[in-house]
Amino acid sequence: MIDRLHGYYRREKETMSNKKREAYLKERLSEILRFGYRHSKTIRSRFDAMGLLPQRIKGLKDLEKLPITKKADLVTSQKQTPPFGGFEVAPKKGMRRIYISPGPVFEPGERDYEDTRWAQALYAGGIRKGDIVLNTFNYHLTPLAFMLDESLGMLGTTVVPIGPGNISMQINLIRQLHVTGFIGTPSFLMAITEAAEGMRLDLKRDLHLKVAFVGAEIFPESLRQKLEGKLDIIIRQAYGTVDVGCLGYECPEKNGMHIPEDVIVEIVDTDTGRQLETGATGEIVATTFSKIFPMIRFATGDLSYLVEDPCPCGRTSIRLGKILGRTDQITKVWGIFIHPWQVDEVMAKFPMVANYQVVVTRKEYRDVMTIHIELKEAVADKLSLKQRMEKEVQEVLKVGGEVAFTERGGIPDRAKKIDDRRVWE
Ligand SMILES: [Zn+2]
Repeated sequence: MIDRLHGYYRREKETMSNKKREAYLKERLSEILRFGYRHSKTIRSRFDAMGLLPQRIKGLKDLEKLPITKKADLVTSQKQTPPFGGFEVAPKKGMRRIYISPGPVFEPGERDYEDTRWAQALYAGGIRKGDIVLNTFNYHLTPLAFMLDESLGMLGTTVVPIGPGNISMQINLIRQLHVTGFIGTPSFLMAITEAAEGMRLDLKRDLHLKVAFVGAEIFPESLRQKLEGKLDIIIRQAYGTVDVGCLGYECPEKNGMHIPEDVIVEIVDTDTGRQLETGATGEIVATTFSKIFPMIRFATGDLSYLVEDPCPCGRTSIRLGKILGRTDQITKVWGIFIHPWQVDEVMAKFPMVANYQVVVTRKEYRDVMTIHIELKEAVADKLSLKQRMEKEVQEVLKVGGEVAFTERGGIPDRAKKIDDRRVWE
């Protein structure tokens, strides 16, 4: 137990050299592949179908030889082989819980929760022993709230297992119990903050919050600044999914999300499953070392990129950059992924914009990107605005595009943010 408690902040683990980390992950990978081959029907049948033995996967690069598992594959397998799709390993001590997350996906929960990744994330986010923490994630069926609850226990904090909803009760409990930590989505924290303001509370004096740990949503920097300022707390985010757990977390430096040691994260080309080089945007794919429900190359459907430069906090792991959105919303222009989220980021800098839409077409075998813009009111110097916008588009999207102004109502309601009109012949 003590070892487990200390695992998440063992500095020698968080400060491993790249070479040591690679060796560590290689060892854990070969261990989980052999374990999965022996105990999980589905993992074994996949290896057998390829005529491959786990021993042949010698390093992280070799993972490319294995197929990607998408959420839809998991759902299909579970329908064929209920309830867990043959991915599961029957645990010696039995299951503590069976979780059900959207899909639906059934997930066995181990008797003793041993994964220290969330605890590591919570610690890096500033949550400490002695904190009283409001866990507003949903305790109903899905595993996230339980994973965090167990991890908060590892850190020695006290949890108020409230779940989401009932904002006035949340505010009362924060006050009555002197809650110091909040866990939940950023938008829920905003809802609580606005409600407390509506009750004319002094957010800094009447609430004793010190730290918030948020996730499960895109967390814009502007929202962080607003909330940190209003509440006088620090807010850090982590990224993960219910299927594969924590895949990244922010440290005090908030410059990307450190990838925990006990998972392998790849960024891959969504079409081919090949690993992409550092900095390139692709799908986040994770391999976990769970001894009850191991996931080998599970595709999250989320897009990000890797950051390798050293972090001033002293942790040496590679980091995930921003989460750029979902793979099903991306469009490739000139071979570069663009995503509605990036367009939002550009447009946020121009308050005079009422509505916009990116249209991608093809002219003489070349991609053409046009950004149609409706303005709230007429501006004096349209040409200079157009030039500033085009510069910003180039900078954020890394692809050039032409800005075209259109009259109010020119962009249909509910039009796609990025409309791909290319015809491929
Ligand atoms: Zn750091």
